[in-house]
Amino acid sequence: MSSETVKVMVRARPMNKLEISKGCANIVQVDPQTNQIILSNGKDAEAAKVFTYDYVFPPDIQQQTVYENSAFPLVESVVEGYNGTIFAYGQTGCGKTHSMLGKPNDEVEKGIIPRTFSHIINIVESANDKNFLVRCSYIEIYNEEIHDLLGKDAKARMDLKEYPDKGVFVKDLTMNVVKTVAEMEKWMNIGTENRSVGATAMNKDSSRSHSIFTLYIECSYKVEGDTEDHITAGKLNLVDLAGSERQSKTQATGDRLKEATKINLSLSALGNVISALVDGKSQHVPYRDSKLTRLLQDSLGGNTKTIMIAAISPADYNYEETLSTLRYASRAKNI
Ligand code: ADP
Ligand code: MG
Repeated sequence: MSSETVKVMVRARPMNKLEISKGCANIVQVDPQTNQIILSNGKDAEAAKVFTYDYVFPPDIQQQTVYENSAFPLVESVVEGYNGTIFAYGQTGCGKTHSMLGKPNDEVEKGIIPRTFSHIINIVESANDKNFLVRCSYIEIYNEEIHDLLGKDAKARMDLKEYPDKGVFVKDLTMNVVKTVAEMEKWMNIGTENRSVGATAMNKDSSRSHSIFTLYIECSYKVEGDTEDHITAGKLNLVDLAGSERQSKTQATGDRLKEATKINLSLSALGNVISALVDGKSQHVPYRDSKLTRLLQDSLGGNTKTIMIAAISPADYNYEETLSTLRYASRAKNI
């Protein structure tokens, strides 16, 4: 597999108010010229670690620029019938949701998901000779259980099914036909609201679950000389992953420990699948090791495009977590 199909990007957020007030040092340098992240340990300049990615985004980057360099080309190919996936990975508080959702009602601050809506509708409306059918679904994976955020009961457990012809899918998943940006926004808002209501009711935190907003785009068109219509079908998965931070062994007990174990399992399964794909030599891609990778199997590898955006904090007190995120992202990158 060519490294073109998996692209790894790192985005550093600005220092937040708390970090500034605590006098934290900035230990992250972002170099867009070389696509490098330089991480110092705050004490010893010699000990700085250098990582190279496909793209790096400095703290003052605009949401629009992130979109143009990540999701934009993916949307273009999903409309042509390819599958694509964008993951936001990283420690809680580092900017995953800011990248994926941002402030959905703010033209400048809106993130990748709301930006895909107008992009897709523009393509659909400007194609005179093609008929499009666009649908969306929105799920959450918590503790290796799948929940339908657009279903009647977002707390119900959904089953994964596998058929030889259809591949892996969520049985009875709600899929809504969407014809306008407003309809897409409506379902995004309803799902996001259900996610946080469910989190409160079940006494969990939405940073402990993965969310996947999927757009399914089917297109039919006539080709001269052919009696049958040509049909393409692609889907775009927009994934806000659970926080990658290690749970301290002493604090996590009972449900929290179970939660942490499941998160670690699915994030490492995802890392293993991506590195097997990037490596290209692996005979075995371990899709079956988690719900997330099983579900995304037909959107990872083969004729698909994958982007990982790793979100990091610039502050010294996050050194260990930032190093771990940069290493995870490096594994996904074939250099
Ligand atoms: P995560 O989803 O990874 O837990 P969030 O996206 O919720 O983190 O970000 C935590 C806070 O930091 C939010 O208030 C968010 O608005 C802010 N933030 C994150 N990234 C950026 C950024 N690049 N620029 C400005 N603010 C950001
Ligand atoms: Mg978040």
